[in-house]
Amino acid sequence: QADERESLYLVSEYASKYFQKILHKTDQGKAIGLSYFKERGFTEETIKKFQLGYSLDEWQAFTDEALKQGYNLDYLAKTGVTIVKEEKRFDRFKGRVMFPIRSMSGRVLGFGGRILTNDKKAAKYLNSPESDIYHKSKVLYGIFHAKQSIAKEDNCYLVEGYTDVIQFHQTGIKNVVSSSGTALTPEQIRLINRLTKNITVLFDGDAAGIRASLRGIDLILEQGMNVKICTFPEGEDPDSFAKQNTLEELTLYLEEHAQDFIQFKASMLFEDSKNDPIKKAETVRDIVNSISKIPDRIKREIYIQECSKIMDISEGVLYSTLAQMSKKDN
Ligand code: ATP
Ligand code: MN
Ligand code: MN
Ligand code: MN
Repeated sequence: QADERESLYLVSEYASKYFQKILHKTDQGKAIGLSYFKERGFTEETIKKFQLGYSLDEWQAFTDEALKQGYNLDYLAKTGVTIVKEEKRFDRFKGRVMFPIRSMSGRVLGFGGRILTNDKKAAKYLNSPESDIYHKSKVLYGIFHAKQSIAKEDNCYLVEGYTDVIQFHQTGIKNVVSSSGTALTPEQIRLINRLTKNITVLFDGDAAGIRASLRGIDLILEQGMNVKICTFPEGEDPDSFAKQNTLEELTLYLEEHAQDFIQFKASMLFEDSKNDPIKKAETVRDIVNSISKIPDRIKREIYIQECSKIMDISEGVLYSTLAQMSKKDN
């Protein structure tokens, strides 16, 4: 079992090296993959640091080469870089630029691969399937490159995508990780919790996305962490915003726009429901539910006071709602 995992690590490391070589040393890699990354504004140094790569637009170029080098088809299939169907073998990431996903200690666990065309029928990003070494609920993209800086800054920025992480690094902010499109899990939060008690969640600038993500943030509160929220202008994400700004501008923006999560949520819910009593009752329960997740009693009390002001509702009502919820939990 341990031997098999070791073999999966070796296959993944080989694949990562191979995709890098294709990006930098082949005509197709340079013309398509490398120029794609350069158009996105990534420097040569950034591309090397994150070991970005390219998978040829051919059915089994990678798989053939890996087999020739002596890698076992069974392991290629288990890591998912090769898809085996009856007698046929396919490269999973055919024609995509490649983002290797590393563990806390830097081992390659799997990949994200992005298409280059604007073909709406194909998934924009494709990820490695779950394997004995890649459990997507337990991994944070960028954690290997961010861990020292998260501890030093005593804060972690959490973003949605791979390119957000990379562009922040290039701009000079290194304490940043991504859950890569999946809903945040308790295991992912625990990884961060080992390094800092402070998370700042950076949302893409689209209102629907923000609303959908609010619930997941209660999981961070449950682990006793402090959560701030920062949004970007409509249509921007951390990548596109960082690309247009200097480190000083980006830092200033983050400082000025980071808002306490509970206060942010209370304000947003209040705006949504202030003219609708029934909806307001629901939102009161919603915000109190978030507050009830906070393990520290003093913090809970402070938030009750704050939310009472923001939502224009008495502290008494908020406390009794909180008491009812705590009873239900036990
Ligand atoms: P880009 O800037 O390259 O378009 P992004 O990171 O801004 O990418 P979003 O659409 O904001 O992309 O999605 C955030 C993250 O969600 C992505 O980085 C990726 O990890 C994941 N994701 C997005 N689309 C898909 C998809 N079709 N399938 C699987 N994962 C996806
Ligand atoms: Mn998004
Ligand atoms: Mn995005
Ligand atoms: Mn983007």
